[in-house]
Amino acid sequence: MRAHHLLKAFLCLAIIMISTTVHALEVKQIRFGAHPEKIRMVLDISDVTDYRAFVLSSPYRMVIDLPTFKWAAGQVEKPKQAMISDIRQGKLVPGISRIVFDLEQPITIQSAFLLPKQGAKENRIVIDYKVTTPQKFNAVKSIIHGTLKVEDYKDKATTAQNTGVPHPPSNTSRPSYASREKPMIIIDPGHGGQDPGASGHSRIYEKNVVLALAKQLKKRLLASGKYRVLLTRERDVFVRLKNRVKFARKHDGDLFVSIHADSIHKPNVHGTSVYTLSKKASDAQTAKLAEKENQADLIGGVGLNVEDEQVAFILGDFLMNDTMNQSKFFANKLVAKLKSHKIYTLQNPHRYAGFAVLKAPDIPSILIEAGFMSNKKEATLLNQASHRKKMAIAIHAGIDSYFNYVYKNEQH
Ligand SMILES: [Zn+2]
Repeated sequence: MRAHHLLKAFLCLAIIMISTTVHALEVKQIRFGAHPEKIRMVLDISDVTDYRAFVLSSPYRMVIDLPTFKWAAGQVEKPKQAMISDIRQGKLVPGISRIVFDLEQPITIQSAFLLPKQGAKENRIVIDYKVTTPQKFNAVKSIIHGTLKVEDYKDKATTAQNTGVPHPPSNTSRPSYASREKPMIIIDPGHGGQDPGASGHSRIYEKNVVLALAKQLKKRLLASGKYRVLLTRERDVFVRLKNRVKFARKHDGDLFVSIHADSIHKPNVHGTSVYTLSKKASDAQTAKLAEKENQADLIGGVGLNVEDEQVAFILGDFLMNDTMNQSKFFANKLVAKLKSHKIYTLQNPHRYAGFAVLKAPDIPSILIEAGFMSNKKEATLLNQASHRKKMAIAIHAGIDSYFNYVYKNEQH
């Protein structure tokens, strides 16, 4: 009996394996997350694939074309804020299938990108959009996001009509890296003002070295011509943690990079490390570090209050989870570049904990500990412009690597 079950299980597994390797693309799930600045739609798909997304008018629709897929998403839940009244899908032309989202109002697609499978997260296409005016809709409706080529669709128009899906627009221009708005990088030098952060030997303070590093990084990013950059503080002033997050959201940040250089009770510990948000800390040392960083507001003379809860840490909220995934994705890219640029890193340089400053629910955020002020050699290094330049080059490379990936479906 047991052997029979085992055999059955084995056969099932074999069939699953065969079907996933042989069979075509599958649209597994469509999810929405709404928030004040944008609506995020995520399509979980079985494979990394080309796609294209655009909008159509009369009536207002959003369209996603993919290689022929199997629809496994069932009835998609459409939250009210998603502005979608109906979802249909069907074959467009041989080899291409289409999903049509009927819209309640005109929208603009702000960005569309593909993220590969990470742990339990599927391969997914992410589309950020927001409600707009009919005028603005008309101005951008010819823009196609993504690289999927749909050939000969005019010849096959009857096929498209038969399935009840609309024609693609005639203009097939698509946005390039250059024509879209440049990504906004928010750099957050830790501490400042009455909160000096960690102090090293010879009156070297964290707040000063991280500000200098942030400025160096800003200079390099701007010089590349690829980014817009803002610092949460340009001077030696105190900024509350929640205001750093607020600042990033107010300026529509695409990436948040908090820079620190802290101390721990082990003077021999040194090396750069990168942190992302998590409910549970990856290790005891990181838990302590986060606890310390989160006390910055108390050091600066303001207590935590109810208002801080507004930057809600809602695990289970889809948007937050997705942002956390992107943060991890960026952190891994960054760690790789730190290493390839010969920056000495801690063992397991990507760590997790509940850092308050990383809690923007919609902006991929990381905190980089450039080094430890408690280590004499490292504090000396961080106090040197040449070392900060080396670090800035490596962080810049990490940011490039992240955005190159995110926008890889668009011309660079
Ligand atoms: Zn710090």
